[in-house]
Amino acid sequence: MRICERSSEVRAWTEAYRRSGLSVGLVPTLGALHAGHRALLDRARAECERVVASVYLNPTQFDSPEDLEKYPSAPEADAELCRDAGVDLLWLGRRDDLLPEGFQTWVEVERLTRRLCGATRPGHFRGVATVVTQLFEVVRPHRAYFGLKDYQQARAVARMAADLHFDLEVRCVPTVREADGLAASSRNRRLAPRERAAAAAIYRALEAARQRILAGERSAAAVVEHLRAELSREPLLGVEYAEVVDGATLEPFARGEIDLSGGGALVAVAVRAGAVRLIDNVLVES
Ligand code: AMP
Repeated sequence: MRICERSSEVRAWTEAYRRSGLSVGLVPTLGALHAGHRALLDRARAECERVVASVYLNPTQFDSPEDLEKYPSAPEADAELCRDAGVDLLWLGRRDDLLPEGFQTWVEVERLTRRLCGATRPGHFRGVATVVTQLFEVVRPHRAYFGLKDYQQARAVARMAADLHFDLEVRCVPTVREADGLAASSRNRRLAPRERAAAAAIYRALEAARQRILAGERSAAAVVEHLRAELSREPLLGVEYAEVVDGATLEPFARGEIDLSGGGALVAVAVRAGAVRLIDNVLVES
């Protein structure tokens, strides 16, 4: 496995791959890699001849300096996991390369980023869209892999790739969960044992919401009320948002009536367990 830091080096290698007629897959990450990232890498490995993973703790997608500072980092374990997954090139992104002095150009995806995490984390998706544009431009992958745990991010990146005519396919990978249902996340390692135990309620509440909708409940407000009630049974969890939106537009359903005939219904939550912010979602389809 080759490890590069500079975008110029990465570009030279990925250009050589393409010139040799090899397909290139990109897996962008913030690092502190876990089973969720591994699923993206495995999918890329199965579908592409060369796999590039990027680890870059992108400051522009953090809305709070404290969250950025506390975000876990494990460079050696990350390299080990990438090696084990058969990554060809690991790009350890550097701030002075991707966010140099004088940087002032941004990419914004409008409607898809208005609600959910876009409403509660101002500037977050602008930071994501801009850095992903940079990664796409440097690596020029044939395929790029994103996890459905960050459903809104995956949808926004796919929209951006289409709108900006990036010559690549965005592939989405299902959420990897721990044994009790909690979505694997780098942030999980910051949970105290009691918070970790309480966090299992998140997926239970989402699944209950799914069952309610599948059983015929069509009132988004009623589903949200139950969802909030389930989550509030865990005193260690604080709800930042809990919503049921159209899975295609990420906007509320007309008249608040859930309609599964289009892109399904996305049940999405952001929850705080102590100082740790966790997000999760389920997409309910007919
Ligand atoms: P992150 O490092 O958290 O920005 O995640 C990098 C990529 O891995 C994103 O596309 C995430 O959606 C994806 N990812 C993170 N956690 C999971 C998970 N539990 N299951 C599937 N994909 C995930």
